[in-house]
Amino acid sequence: TIGMVALDHHGNLSGACTTSGAAYKIRGRVGDSPIIGAGLFVDNEVGAAAATGLGEAVIKVAGTHLVVEFMRQGHSPEEACKLAVERVISKNPNYKDLQVGFLALNKFGEYGGYCIHPGFNCAVYENDKNHIVKMNSAVG
Ligand code: ASP
Repeated sequence: TIGMVALDHHGNLSGACTTSGAAYKIRGRVGDSPIIGAGLFVDNEVGAAAATGLGEAVIKVAGTHLVVEFMRQGHSPEEACKLAVERVISKNPNYKDLQVGFLALNKFGEYGGYCIHPGFNCAVYENDKNHIVKMNSAVG
């Protein structure tokens, strides 16, 4: 999945995502990406979040909605993503075989991400420059 979240000069948030889906998926499978609140969620009062990894695990916790609700409670984007990853882990005893990651951006332009296993990066465009931010992870 490629997830994108943005904050414009007027302070408006937006988000988008696109996915190849899962390898060897069963016919008719719907992943998390097309489900608002699972693969993508934006609340213009609070923040925006996108998910990647195994969609079924993200759907089960309404992952990106959860991230935005954690930001509403006052958590930073990275903390919110970490708490959502911990929720996924708590629901999946097999989490060592599972990859899920979230990225988030809040109304103040702060951003962050978190995943179960290392390997995901965020490409950030701010102050007319691009840079890469490595996501922290729960394992490894
Ligand atoms: N989240 C996607 C899915 O489960 C997979 C991906 O990360 O591309 O459909």
